[in-house]
Amino acid sequence: MENPFDDTYFMKKALQEAEIAFEKGEIPVGAVIVIEDRIIARAHNLTELLNDVTAHAEMQAITAAANFLGGKYLHNCTLYVTLEPCQMCAGALYWSQISKIVYGASDEERGCINLKTKLHPKTKMVGGVLQDEASQLLKRFFIEKRNLN
Ligand SMILES: [Zn+2]
Repeated sequence: MENPFDDTYFMKKALQEAEIAFEKGEIPVGAVIVIEDRIIARAHNLTELLNDVTAHAEMQAITAAANFLGGKYLHNCTLYVTLEPCQMCAGALYWSQISKIVYGASDEERGCINLKTKLHPKTKMVGGVLQDEASQLLKRFFIEKRNLN
């Protein structure tokens, strides 16, 4: 039997977090951190609510996961995030020494790949998991926002 806990399964959980952000009027990006098929942190973007440009989903998920584990390093952990991490988040992920990053949609302008942010040598990165769902949600958000203004 196939393991039901694959990248798609956990990316759906990250998308649920992005939907929560959407409902709150936040740019809809969600993240979960997983260790041994178990979710230990769930977070979504809260930059508006917290008035804090650092309140990206990944930043909060990193803090929550470290609290859960009782240690600052995220060894053997995988981050699922609906949008390619920015430079700030990639930098924080570097320090966390996380084992794997799986993202959904690409961010050509502010993403860590085009900006060539260095990841930790122990970190693997995979992109494009449920990217259409993730980018549709972002597009819908910006269309609705434009119509309100
Ligand atoms: Zn970020």
